[in-house]
Amino acid sequence: MRLSLLSACFGLVSSALAHCPRSAATSNYNTTQWAPLPETAHGMTIPATGYLTQHLGGGAYAILNGEYQSWFLVSDEGVIVMDCPPLFGRNCMYAIGNVTDIPVTHFVYSHAHADHAHGAVYWADADVTFIAHELSKERIIDVLNHGSTPVPVPTVTFEHHMTLEVGNQTVELSYKGDNHAVGNIFIYAPQQKILALIDVVFPGWVPFGELGASEYIPGWTKAHDQILEYDFDWYIGGHVSRLGRREDVEIQKEYVMDLKQITIEAVAASTPLIAQITGPAAAANPENAWAMTSAYGEWLTDYCEGPMNKKWVGRLGGADVYARLNCYKMIEAVRLDWGYLGPAGLRS
Ligand SMILES: [Zn+2]
Ligand SMILES: [Zn+2]
Repeated sequence: MRLSLLSACFGLVSSALAHCPRSAATSNYNTTQWAPLPETAHGMTIPATGYLTQHLGGGAYAILNGEYQSWFLVSDEGVIVMDCPPLFGRNCMYAIGNVTDIPVTHFVYSHAHADHAHGAVYWADADVTFIAHELSKERIIDVLNHGSTPVPVPTVTFEHHMTLEVGNQTVELSYKGDNHAVGNIFIYAPQQKILALIDVVFPGWVPFGELGASEYIPGWTKAHDQILEYDFDWYIGGHVSRLGRREDVEIQKEYVMDLKQITIEAVAASTPLIAQITGPAAAANPENAWAMTSAYGEWLTDYCEGPMNKKWVGRLGGADVYARLNCYKMIEAVRLDWGYLGPAGLRS
């Protein structure tokens, strides 16, 4: 007799419990005690105002609230704003207003994700030039602006490179291909040696789940080397409670290389074991191909999680919290993008 999902979920089949929806009452999801944070994961103390303005020299300022980061450059003719996360609310405007009376004249979108872009709405009616990569403009029109409050559509776009000069400030905007998101650009202030590439490196922390919710992992991986080609003193990644230095990029690159290596090993190790790995799921769920696929994914993730935790817990914040999601994201990339298909590869 087949048990309904409901009866399985209420304990009649204990092995099925892992596949049942979590409820707030029964889940330990929110009370799990993870490993203590390493010292490097601790950042700036955020004042009671809810945000901090960090002067980086030469008229450059970062805005941080502990979770998000954006930045602006004050020139003698206008202020250039790079992103304004919606969680900042009007604090982007307050941070700028507390530094200068010079008006905001330019707003640069790093990419078309709402959590960094949505604060642009505060300048929707101002005399501001909105700039983005041409693919981000497409996304803003086709996707982002079909959600909540529409953000201003960029009026200036570029394909590969653009130099933005406003008064005495210069910003170099470069697109090197898809990485975290299509249209995600490198933003470089050469005078101050500040480089921003949002959602790629997370100073002191591992990337949050699924490698920072990134779309194209080979491009995202390559971006670490592309960052290191720049001469920078400050790296702005858009998240966590402090800005980065060169060393932070090098450490995360090592984390990503470890992740890639271990997942390649996992796929290779699975090849001779594939019948044992998927057999029980197949027997319990005849004709359910996804039951087998899921069992295989769990096995690969288990293989990756242990060694990653062993090396990285205590070195980067949240390594244990996001081990499984980051392992799984890299497994997908290693299999589908890099072609390490293991038991699903070419037949001889
Ligand atoms: Zn993003
Ligand atoms: Zn982000």
